[in-house]
Amino acid sequence: MGNIPQSHTLKRIYTAHYRYGGDDRIDITVKGNDPDWAPFKPTWEMVMGVKKGTVSESDYINMYLDIVNKVPVATWDKLLSMEEITLVCFCPQDAFCHRNILTRQICMTLSGRVQYIGWRS
Ligand SMILES: [Zn+2]
Repeated sequence: MGNIPQSHTLKRIYTAHYRYGGDDRIDITVKGNDPDWAPFKPTWEMVMGVKKGTVSESDYINMYLDIVNKVPVATWDKLLSMEEITLVCFCPQDAFCHRNILTRQICMTLSGRVQYIGWRS
């Protein structure tokens, strides 16, 4: 995550299903209806590939981390200026999902200063 700014307000990350409607909702689905967060979308090729079994989970992780690495600084600035965010996707809580890959990556990069709290139902 070369672009990720080290100065930030973000403290807490939650995950939730797409239907979650709080103010801190961040839509990172492949359909990505919010242009602010579109840089976090996976590609259809990846999503369909992992469903069909033509893309392995480890390949999917690497492909998604490539996308995360290309997220523009302005998008990071916006995301990290929030104190709390909830990343939403269509997948169930414990599914293999880019929502969890992104959460892990942010927590690792900003280790100790950002915490994953858990699932919002
Ligand atoms: Zn998902």
